[in-house]
Amino acid sequence: STGHTDRIVIIGGGISGLSSAFYLMRQAQEQGRPIKVTIVEAADSLGGKINTLRRDGFVIEKGPDSFLARKLPIIELTRELGLENELAATNPAAKKTYILNRGKLHPMPPGLVLGIPTEIMPFAKSNLLSVKGKLRALLDFVLPKRLGTDDESIGGFLERRVGTEVMERVAEPLLAGIYAGELRKLSLRATFPQFREAELKHGSLIRGMRANRKAGTAAQSRMPAVAKNSVFLTYRNGLSTLVDALDKTLADVDRRMGTKVKAIYRVEEAVERISGVIAQPQAEAQAGKKPGGIADMQPEATPRYMIELDSGEQLAAEAIIMTAPAFSAAELISPHMDASELEAIRYVSVANVVLAFDKATFGLEFDGSGFVVPRTEGRHITACTWTSAKWLHSSPGDKVLLRCYVGRSGDEESVSLPDEQLKALVCKDIEEIMGITAEPLFVEITRLHRSMPQYPVGHVENMARLRQRAAEKLPCVWITGAAFDGVGLPDCVRQGKEAAKQTLHNLTY
Ligand code: FAD
Repeated sequence: STGHTDRIVIIGGGISGLSSAFYLMRQAQEQGRPIKVTIVEAADSLGGKINTLRRDGFVIEKGPDSFLARKLPIIELTRELGLENELAATNPAAKKTYILNRGKLHPMPPGLVLGIPTEIMPFAKSNLLSVKGKLRALLDFVLPKRLGTDDESIGGFLERRVGTEVMERVAEPLLAGIYAGELRKLSLRATFPQFREAELKHGSLIRGMRANRKAGTAAQSRMPAVAKNSVFLTYRNGLSTLVDALDKTLADVDRRMGTKVKAIYRVEEAVERISGVIAQPQAEAQAGKKPGGIADMQPEATPRYMIELDSGEQLAAEAIIMTAPAFSAAELISPHMDASELEAIRYVSVANVVLAFDKATFGLEFDGSGFVVPRTEGRHITACTWTSAKWLHSSPGDKVLLRCYVGRSGDEESVSLPDEQLKALVCKDIEEIMGITAEPLFVEITRLHRSMPQYPVGHVENMARLRQRAAEKLPCVWITGAAFDGVGLPDCVRQGKEAAKQTLHNLTY
């Protein structure tokens, strides 16, 4: 290393930014390198989309509510933070999930993995699909695999393998829950590459998913006990537990809260533009001579970047990790380079409406954890989680908690409705679907405008191209986060770790 302290600014204090900071500090320490890390976060608190509200004995998630247990990066981070005992699994007695079909709730057939049937008998017996739809799905066993290496949409892929009915009535409401997207517009390679791998390796999506399921059972040996029987995990006191623990561990990381990064300047460019007075030592330094004058008085290296904040403050940095949403990141980098790949990522707005009830007046016993709603049903809600049944820690024993989701690609208007109207729409839906007429104790509405990135077909290649250009035009700026390589919390943690490694590497070479 060069001996001086490298300054690294992280834009965004969501899980991607916090994980980046955590692994930067850890890896720098392991390498014995002095670094100074600053997080700039536009909001007044850390966590980004993660936002747990603790109210009247309830644990209410206003953003994400859990994560996939089989994805290890977040489990590792949980261990490293000493939070393993805080993990909470889903209620084993509430395993069933439902799907709305022509106005009625149908249990999801067992063996459905990401909307793909891996067990034939329950699938064949289910009355979710027409006989024609089921037979079409089974053609997957005999249809030839598609050749070629170009990306396609998830919707197009599923229609090709298992037919339109399975795609629209089963896979779409399940998978779209993760992206609030339209399967016919989302990139297969960037979202479910395992589907295409299954086709290529096994000649059939269903066969491939069955094989994956078996392999998944083997991978469980690396999981903590709590994760073994639960597809999803969270923390007993909510996902903010993770944010709070990171916040505490990162006491040595500087923060600038409640202020946005407004612009990034390349110092070299700026120096060239000003005058010969400053350009002179810069040129000498580049020629390998010892810089004199001003540079001698600076304890730290000449910064590569100046980062201007809304507050008026300027931060000097040798490297930047950018975790802001694609549209914000694009604004910051487009003065320096073409950012069209980031601009191509559309965001969908969603809202969630949490309703709390008294069990005594609720009038319904749940057998399961909730239901999803296919687009074709023409409802306002896209899904409903029976939170108090799925997550026992979330509610007092004599209360019921429901979480309804509103908004998806192509159907976002209701997200912006005033509270009373939104509440009324949701209550009408749950009355007609589940027969609930009880008056809620309280309602918590959270709107997340432009919160769900939609990876377009070609996304993986687009991002590779963008990064290559950035390496040239904006050296030591690493663009990452949910818009990049996975929206799930474990994916964001993985990307944070990778950002740390890449940044320390780039600063060395
Ligand atoms: P963010 O959390 O968006 O953080 C980016 C931060 O950057 C923000 O805090 C923002 O204020 C800040 N920022 C932006 N611009 C600037 C700027 N110019 N200067 C300074 N700061 C800036 N994932 C799961 O795994 N499980 C779930 O159950 C789940 N449910 C979800 C439900 C909803 C409603 C949503 C919206 C997402 C859900 N996700 C879920 C996805 C997951 O929550 C997100 O992908 C993840 O939290 C994103 O983290 P991030 O750090 O990349 O981005």
